[in-house]
Amino acid sequence: MLNKAKTVLQTYFGYDHFRDGQEDIIQKVSGGKDTLAIMPTGGGKSLCYQIPAMLFPGITIVISPLISLMKDQVDALEKTGIPSTYINSTLPNGEINERLNDIYNGNYKLVYIAPERLEVPSFLRLLKEIHISLLAIDEAHCISQWGHDFRPSYLQIKNLISQIKPKPVVLALTATATPQVQNDIIELLHIQKEHVVMTGFERENLQFQVVKGEDRDRFLLNYIEKNSGQAGIIYAATRKEVDRIHLLLERKGLPAGKYHAGMSEAERNQQQERFLFDDISIMVATNAFGMGINKSNVRFVIHYQIPRNMESYYQEAGRAGRDGEESACILLFAPQDAQIQSFLIEQSEMDEGRKEHEYSKLRKMVAYGHTESCLQQYILFYFGEEDPPECGKCGNCTDSREHVDVTIDAQKVLSCIRRMNERFGKTMIAKVLTGSADKKIKSVGFDQLTTFGILKERNQKEVSEFIDFLTAEGYLLPTDGQYPVLMLTENAGNVLRGKEPVFRKEKVRIAQLVEDNELFELLRELRREFAEKEKVPPYVIFSDATLREMSAALPRNDNDLLQIKGIGERKLEAYGTDFLSVINAYCEEKDIERKHVPMMKVEKKSVSKSTKDSSHLVTYQMLQDGMEIEEIALEREISERTVESHLIKCDEEGHEIDWDQFIPSQYEEMIEKAVDEAESTRLTPIKELLPDEISFFMIRAFLQKNKEKVTKGEV
Ligand code: ADP
Ligand code: MG
Repeated sequence: MLNKAKTVLQTYFGYDHFRDGQEDIIQKVSGGKDTLAIMPTGGGKSLCYQIPAMLFPGITIVISPLISLMKDQVDALEKTGIPSTYINSTLPNGEINERLNDIYNGNYKLVYIAPERLEVPSFLRLLKEIHISLLAIDEAHCISQWGHDFRPSYLQIKNLISQIKPKPVVLALTATATPQVQNDIIELLHIQKEHVVMTGFERENLQFQVVKGEDRDRFLLNYIEKNSGQAGIIYAATRKEVDRIHLLLERKGLPAGKYHAGMSEAERNQQQERFLFDDISIMVATNAFGMGINKSNVRFVIHYQIPRNMESYYQEAGRAGRDGEESACILLFAPQDAQIQSFLIEQSEMDEGRKEHEYSKLRKMVAYGHTESCLQQYILFYFGEEDPPECGKCGNCTDSREHVDVTIDAQKVLSCIRRMNERFGKTMIAKVLTGSADKKIKSVGFDQLTTFGILKERNQKEVSEFIDFLTAEGYLLPTDGQYPVLMLTENAGNVLRGKEPVFRKEKVRIAQLVEDNELFELLRELRREFAEKEKVPPYVIFSDATLREMSAALPRNDNDLLQIKGIGERKLEAYGTDFLSVINAYCEEKDIERKHVPMMKVEKKSVSKSTKDSSHLVTYQMLQDGMEIEEIALEREISERTVESHLIKCDEEGHEIDWDQFIPSQYEEMIEKAVDEAESTRLTPIKELLPDEISFFMIRAFLQKNKEKVTKGEV
């Protein structure tokens, strides 16, 4: 099974290796075990049911809560050559009926549905009449009331499973790892504990950073400017904040959209589409945005405020870098923001025990903002990994900024606040410290304070930032409400009494994520043209990672292209020529000499240059170049039978041939049985035991593939 799984991975998806957990999950599922897969966002859960779907004889039903994204998922699958469709409420009835008919006729391997569909009786009737091999339940935490996104209709799934005969294999998938949610899932779906596969939660390509004590708007603008053109999501805690930040970016002419639950559905969809289609590169949003977002080239996720717990943080931050490219996850941390989250918990309808549970999670989120040790380590530790190592690349691990002693300035600020009786906010305090001529200051007599103008060599903005810094460090405590008043904490008292020094780090340097080269831009342009023509988001055509690899490896032909991550046979066929011609033209123009792209994919024996006279080797080379048997026969003007015998000859001579590509996976078991039963390796008696659609060559390929076993009589 695993060999076949690997073939599907390579030929359809164009990937060389399984990621952590995928192999294990696929093996369990194809062995008929109901499985719970827990992998982080972006870890690659989809392949864990898409590949088995190709290996199983029947249909795979995928239940997913996000109808707005089903179309993209299906488009992406169709592009890799996997027949699939979706059914949801966005489709007109006529279209639904047509699709149901096609499903009934076995035209699809994968069918995506929303859980609500399970409440439609006619649909349930259909499900009972077709052969369902696998039921994949995406975002499976939705089944649990402890999860962060409970969906009552997920509870229908249990009934569904009991009604379909024979029972399909069940695969539940989630990125939520809390024990309570896990338990709910396995109990409700009757999954055995030993069939829970949980991978490491590390995402190697994410670089975490906490930025505190800085002007957040300014940081944001600088960051976006420095990384212009890169896709990013900015999460803010409230709709109002989203509107404000969005306006701020818009005024600066930055290509930003926004998304929150206060907007109409049409507006939200439109904004989301523009983001997915690379029309706008920035999305400012509340946590309402992003569940199931498959956009793979999100390069940064910035949290303007802390979310309510680490689960949400990791899920939202994890939307960066699904394509495996280096990406940044930045938290702009201000301790007072915890108050918004506390407020939301307080206002909720949870019972007291549950609220306490939420508060304690919030405290751990705040502690993340404060920690000075490795951020990734903190996250992995939170998710239950034992002894996670330091990452060496997060903001804390790489922090080499100098500590500057700012005790005296801190004393000036703190004593000024004390003299103002701890009854004012940041702006007013900064004005007094810088000696502002504001009338209001005069009217309350603050111009008479000894601290008036004590920092007049600085501007108001700098002093405000410094006050933010003191707040972040816990010397000041803002009160609740829209115009928080700053109060001194116990630590502030220590500073004022000269018992505690204050150190401040220099400003954070804003890193530039990636430098894209000229060719990458050209390829991106071409990708955009295809995306527009085919009305799909660009990343459905090729991921950024694939384009970047192309622009570095400079493939010269189809064979080279196939070595590149994310290019399977179907995509090669659809786009190969066009992308090659852009690359070739670029290299010609720049006078770049190219080497072969090193073969990484399958260990292929290299074919010597003198193949011209050995006919079967010419055939072999053409096969390696990605041609089908039929095409080779046409091109060489020989019969398909000859091509087939060439391949067998090559195999005998030790040239590696991937026979699986000629054995449709759904037939393999049948062929194996027939070979057994015929007690012979002669083709005709075997063929007689099999349905007509299984060709001689499929049997031949099967025998070649298993030749060692066959000669030992094991098959
Ligand atoms: P999630 O676990 O969040 O559902 P996805 O299934 O959406 O993650 O996968 C995230 C990205 O990783 C996708 O772009 C997918 O094509 C890519 N991916 C998945 N498996 C592999 C693999 N074995 N090698 C390379 N890329 C992969
Ligand atoms: Mg997913």
